[in-house]
Amino acid sequence: MHVATTIAPVQDGQLTEVIHDDLAARRLAPAEHVVDTAYLTPAQIERAQQVHGITLLGPVAAGHSHQAKAGQGFDKTAFTIDWDARRATCPQGAISCAWRPLHVSGHDYIQIQFAKKDCLACPVRTQCTDSADRPRALALLPRQSLHEIQTHNRREQRTSQWQRRYAIRAGIEATLSQAVRTRGLRRSRYRGLARTHVQHVLTARACNFTRLADWFDTSPTSSRRDTDFRTLCAAAGLVTA
Ligand code: SF4
Repeated sequence: MHVATTIAPVQDGQLTEVIHDDLAARRLAPAEHVVDTAYLTPAQIERAQQVHGITLLGPVAAGHSHQAKAGQGFDKTAFTIDWDARRATCPQGAISCAWRPLHVSGHDYIQIQFAKKDCLACPVRTQCTDSADRPRALALLPRQSLHEIQTHNRREQRTSQWQRRYAIRAGIEATLSQAVRTRGLRRSRYRGLARTHVQHVLTARACNFTRLADWFDTSPTSSRRDTDFRTLCAAAGLVTA
């Protein structure tokens, strides 16, 4: 179990690279690291693979456009991007008229715009934009490799095969909950990051000892009474009694 302690305002995703670097320094880098959305971006997936050979597995953030959210109309994946020529072709065959690298709120991205004359005359305009008088625009990640990781992952994470693979992460929330509820993980007994880190390391060790004890304990667990809902499902033949 790796333990990293930070001050409260540090976001989850700021630790992904630090954790990988620390594990690699001790020759403990995993082949695969399964995380939730807060810990991964296309850039982090790329770095984990390139720098440490780690497959960072988790759902990338969903698209923010209303087409992506609604699952209808033309989201980014409906457009063909030509990175060398720096232009995009829309589902109607119109070619973009502007390609601008932008830096907004600390993030780099590429803004692509289509011509007003094409979009205002477009017969499928309502599938493409909500605006009454503006042309369609797209925002892409700043590099082709990042865009391809994002597109690939968003497609993959909708498949049942990917979801079965990701299901291995399910148990971690119970482990975290155990550490928070039974071992007071969210309360520091000490002042200062260094001492708080010692507390966190000891808490992690206690968790590991408990899990080892559970693993080696072969005594039968007490049988639990079925819930009313399970009894109902068994009566309806939906589960085996
Ligand atoms: S609205 Fe513009 S970008 Fe969208 S499909 Fe029509 S022509 Fe293409």
